[in-house]
Amino acid sequence: MDIRVLGAHNCESQSARFVCLLIDDKLAIDAGGLTSSLSLPAQQRLKAILLTHQHYDHIRDIPAIAMNFFLNEATINIYSTLPVHAALASHLLNAELYPKFMEQPQGNPTIKFIIIEPGKIEHVEGYGILAVPVNHTDPTFGYQVTSPDGKIVFYTSDTGAGLTKCWEQVSPQLLIIEVTAPDRYQEFAKESRHLTPSLLKQELINFRELKGYLPQVVVVHMNPGLEKEIETEIEAIARVLNNPITLAYEGMQLHL
Ligand SMILES: [Zn+2]
Ligand SMILES: [Zn+2]
Repeated sequence: MDIRVLGAHNCESQSARFVCLLIDDKLAIDAGGLTSSLSLPAQQRLKAILLTHQHYDHIRDIPAIAMNFFLNEATINIYSTLPVHAALASHLLNAELYPKFMEQPQGNPTIKFIIIEPGKIEHVEGYGILAVPVNHTDPTFGYQVTSPDGKIVFYTSDTGAGLTKCWEQVSPQLLIIEVTAPDRYQEFAKESRHLTPSLLKQELINFRELKGYLPQVVVVHMNPGLEKEIETEIEAIARVLNNPITLAYEGMQLHL
């Protein structure tokens, strides 16, 4: 399984893109920096997009990718929950901001939206997909993706602390998890249901107690302006836990 980090951040600038992962060139998870990172032919190789929740930084490129597929007379499958479908239909693809690509062209809409059932393995393009609830302000699901040859990655998406129930359901070799801000923002992180390095540390300790191992850990969704601070704190935690924890960056390639 080859995973490319297209977007690694929670804010956008010339050097930072909204969070987005690409698996084996055909499966995207979240659509932050999706169209802005891929050529048109690479976009057309996409088979499916999994959306974790409705926040703007995770769905931003859905209208843009839909337009490109529409102009190419092609269709794209999007997997997510009912609230995400409702948010896209009422706020973005509503014939006011942009065309209703989930309904049009009639009979063969550009976006085929498939509602996923949490806790049940869905088969998508040969991959086993498991949606697992995490702890964020709006309903949010992490995705465990199992490749045809049995490699397993779990991406939490945005989440706060309290992931024990989530850990019970997953067994990844690679964990892609969020850390939005450094520890001095812990109160903000708790309120907005995000993680800081110390909160991540406790979640990883819980993971190890429950599962008896720690996977390789890659951190995404950093605030670019606070990234140096986050990095220093993450390095200290990686040393204490004696486990690889690295910050993702745009263009990072991971192989399982
Ligand atoms: Zn969010
Ligand atoms: Zn976010």
